[in-house]
Amino acid sequence: MSKYTSLSDIQAALKDGSTTMVDVVQSYLQRIKETNHLNIYVEVYEEEAFAKAKELDRKLEKDPSCVGGLFGAVASIKDVLCYKDHKLTAASNILGSFTSQFTATAVQRLLDEDVIIIGRTNCDEFAMGSTNEHTRYGPTLNGLDESRVPGGSSGAAAVSVERDTCLIGVGSDTGGSVRQPAAFCGIYGMKPTYGRISRYGLIAYGSSFDQIGLLTKDVDTLSRALTVMSGPDPMDATCLSIEAPAIASADQASKYKIAYIPEVLNHPGLKPEIKKGCEEVIENLKEQGHGCEAIDFDLLSYLVPTYYVLTTAEASSNLSRYDGIRYGLRADDVEDLEELYERSRSEGFGTEVKRRIMMGTFVLSVGYFDAYFTKAQQVRTLIIQRLTEVFSKFDFIVMPTTTDIAWPIGEMIKDPVSMYLADVYTVLANLGGYPAISIPKSSEGLDMPFGIQVMSDKCTEAQLLSFAKQLSIS
Ligand code: GLN
Repeated sequence: MSKYTSLSDIQAALKDGSTTMVDVVQSYLQRIKETNHLNIYVEVYEEEAFAKAKELDRKLEKDPSCVGGLFGAVASIKDVLCYKDHKLTAASNILGSFTSQFTATAVQRLLDEDVIIIGRTNCDEFAMGSTNEHTRYGPTLNGLDESRVPGGSSGAAAVSVERDTCLIGVGSDTGGSVRQPAAFCGIYGMKPTYGRISRYGLIAYGSSFDQIGLLTKDVDTLSRALTVMSGPDPMDATCLSIEAPAIASADQASKYKIAYIPEVLNHPGLKPEIKKGCEEVIENLKEQGHGCEAIDFDLLSYLVPTYYVLTTAEASSNLSRYDGIRYGLRADDVEDLEELYERSRSEGFGTEVKRRIMMGTFVLSVGYFDAYFTKAQQVRTLIIQRLTEVFSKFDFIVMPTTTDIAWPIGEMIKDPVSMYLADVYTVLANLGGYPAISIPKSSEGLDMPFGIQVMSDKCTEAQLLSFAKQLSIS
């Protein structure tokens, strides 16, 4: 069977009878087997996917008008999203063999529109990391070069799409975990406005940063899935009470005001080929008649520290619920309650998660709260003020998604600080709560893809996605 890269292609083929849902699922399962060594899935829902495919084929045959809007789409879900009666571990030992008792709102909305969930994907433990190496299941490999990481934390979600084992990867993005792996694997990855998609049923990392995001091979599919997943939800008080975004238009003619940041392009850690690639994109945009202007952004060096102070603080608090009593793993042969907590948490959490709990607990401790946590909150406010100003004058900010191409496996494990510093371009959108997309690009001098990131004002996803379409062909 041929490989479908867009929902419209699959839907057309299903409608004209040139394929069936059973066929589609069969070929995805075949590719899952062929790519088993990449360690993409921690669990494949084979039987279930087949049963749903048969049901959908019957539904289509009976009355094509009664199928859901996303019929034909097959999705993978990252191991941080609740799916009723399915296992869920956040790639952590602490969750043991925990099973979800309910389904995340975003996942339910996909199911309601006839999406088939094919399995759950590997990730960094509790979504903390940039390489998909910090996981109880062992690293996921990049499908384009197996000696490299796929990025993280939604690295396996990106490979699941890139290797055509499904059409849509559902991930989560706290500081770049959807956009960075998209850039490392050469596909699209988008994080919507904070509050656009309900976080009900998403395992929390940094609650004021987390958003569910999408990985696909084309903008239309992404846009249609985003529309389905978005919208108010009484189960999440931070979910915005505004309508879901419209599906991105095919408009290729609009001219926009675009900002770029010289400090970003002159960043010492930025790979020269990516810098060149980004400059070329900006030049092309100018030639096409868009207004491109350099802007000052003197807060760049504060982004990573602010992000890590605040997210580790939130993480240390969110992770306190894993105490060996309520969920998953419980140490046995313990003398007393304190030893139960200590041993369950020591045995259950991995190194990176423990490092973050310690950092978070430190910045929240009585003696250091004002110096770190309060200060970081103040800087976050400054960042938001600056971005509000920028978006009062510009439609988009364009920059690279990452400083580098996908790293060799093992390189970042030895050097967590370098791993943190590499998040410099992606954390901005989460600090401000803005939507951002990574668009895949290639450059002659690079044997791996890189990403161009576009950020836009809050709740302007439809415009962002139609611009992403323009950028993809320029
Ligand atoms: N790499 C970032 C971190 O480790 C982003 C993680 C994420 O977005 N979930 O925190």
